[in-house]
Amino acid sequence: MRIKSLNPKETSYLAEVLGSEIIKTESLVVLGLVGDLGAGKTTFTKSLIKALGSKKKVTSPTFLVMRRFVLKSKRNVYHIDAYRVAAYDLVHLGAKEIFKSPNIVVIEWADKVRHILPKGTIWIKFAHSRDSNHQNERHLTFNRR
Ligand code: ADP
Ligand code: MG
Repeated sequence: MRIKSLNPKETSYLAEVLGSEIIKTESLVVLGLVGDLGAGKTTFTKSLIKALGSKKKVTSPTFLVMRRFVLKSKRNVYHIDAYRVAAYDLVHLGAKEIFKSPNIVVIEWADKVRHILPKGTIWIKFAHSRDSNHQNERHLTFNRR
């Protein structure tokens, strides 16, 4: 499925819609976000985590590989930025254990750690528009693999 977003607000809205569905689930949900710098991964993640009901402010985990948010339901949400890490590092941070519980895990630059992500990961690819007249246009492609 491919969806066009015309501005950051639309990207946030898509994240909220997805968040409202994820909140209804009871098993592990892994979102693998892929796309160039500035494509909208963090914008999407912030809105998603907010929509899930986290009270804590979502900052970019650029200097933190992983942040955990605890929802009212006690379910954990993990925001991971794999930009500067290897799969090996994530395993050392406990990624394998995180995938064993019914957590919600959002991973930016997920293609860098592709081989440790579980089957059923929802891949969301963010792409800038090729048309330079549409600076704020992004294309989001959803796949489940
Ligand atoms: P990433 O995490 O992929 O590097 P960010 O979400 O941090 O990207 O940054 C995206 C930047 O692009 C933000 O400054 C945002 O305001 C801007 N932007 C412009 N149009 C869009 C859009 N349609 N969706 C998301 N972000 C957009
Ligand atoms: Mg980012």
